[in-house]
Amino acid sequence: MKKHNFYAGPSILPQYTIENTIAALKDFAGMGLSLMEISHRSKQFVAVVDEAVALFKELLNIPEGYSVIFVGGGASLQFSMVPYNILNKKAAYLNTGEWATKAIKEAKLFGEVNVVASSEDKQFNYIPRGYKVPTDVDYFHITTNNTIYGTEILEDLEVGVPLVADMSSDIFSRVIDVSKYAIIYGGAQKNLAPAGVTFAIIKDDILGKVERAIPTMLKYSTHISKESMFNTPPVVPIYAALQTLKWLKDSGGVAAMEKENKRKAALLYGEIDRNPLFRATVPAPEDRSRMNVCFVMNEGYEHLEKEFNDYATEQGMIGIKGHRSVGGFRASLYNALPYTSVEALVETMQAFEKMKK
Ligand SMILES: *Cc1c(COP(=O)(O)O)cnc(C)c1O
Repeated sequence: MKKHNFYAGPSILPQYTIENTIAALKDFAGMGLSLMEISHRSKQFVAVVDEAVALFKELLNIPEGYSVIFVGGGASLQFSMVPYNILNKKAAYLNTGEWATKAIKEAKLFGEVNVVASSEDKQFNYIPRGYKVPTDVDYFHITTNNTIYGTEILEDLEVGVPLVADMSSDIFSRVIDVSKYAIIYGGAQKNLAPAGVTFAIIKDDILGKVERAIPTMLKYSTHISKESMFNTPPVVPIYAALQTLKWLKDSGGVAAMEKENKRKAALLYGEIDRNPLFRATVPAPEDRSRMNVCFVMNEGYEHLEKEFNDYATEQGMIGIKGHRSVGGFRASLYNALPYTSVEALVETMQAFEKMKK
């Protein structure tokens, strides 16, 4: 039976990415050797990194004065690398969920942290608005997509101080204005590549302003000056990322993705709002994530949660169980997930409704 992959991360990748990566694992760039067993400094692999950086810049329309790097350590290491490199005295953070909370915890090791607003009072089911960002902070940090609780900041904020964004789970899902950001970072395993590589887009002039000593590997300028080749980068995930970027370009780029992502999210939220058995956990439509759609059994139907999960799994819906801290269901609709998979999930929800009424 056809499987529909709704996992939150690691998650669905384009078939193009998977097939080309498998091929390169057998024979990379006609070298007669596996991608796993060649030097990262071979001209063939240096070309991979160069092309991946060029496609990042092209697809996101990154202006002059920014660098793109690929490193290890996951988005979680960026929670420390950001303050290590750019927090002098004080930073502001927006707390919209578990990932933001983790980023805040790390930043506190480096200076004063002002949490300007939080949605923790309502289980992170909304995006705070109307807060003020102090003008004397080194930067303001946001998590654009709250992968666990299913909220998303769908605009580029104007805050008057350097803006830093964790875009692990919504990079390339909508058109962004990179010039509004000082740093954008993310783990690749949600919308780009298998786990193991982390990207960072850094405005060069944000660096060099802190006085502390920074360990070489944790210093952005190390990786920028060595073009992600200071040490051995995650070769296979970077190769896979390049395939996804090529697929993205062939599919019409980020604007085309955004259009399709809006259609997919509208279809699924529409069914959740219509179907009396289910309820979206994020009430305000403008706060709902297009990437991670969280829903639960509606009042009076709570006892059917396990039964729906089992039924949906039988129908080929994989990975829709909600995060352990939320419960219920979460369907992740990343770029590579086709519209037809969302249709299949909607049909499953409708069939379950008929069975129960
Ligand atoms: C998954 C995720 C992370 C953690 O990424 P790792 O690469 O596992 O460290 C951080 N932030 C967001 C928004 C995520 O979705």
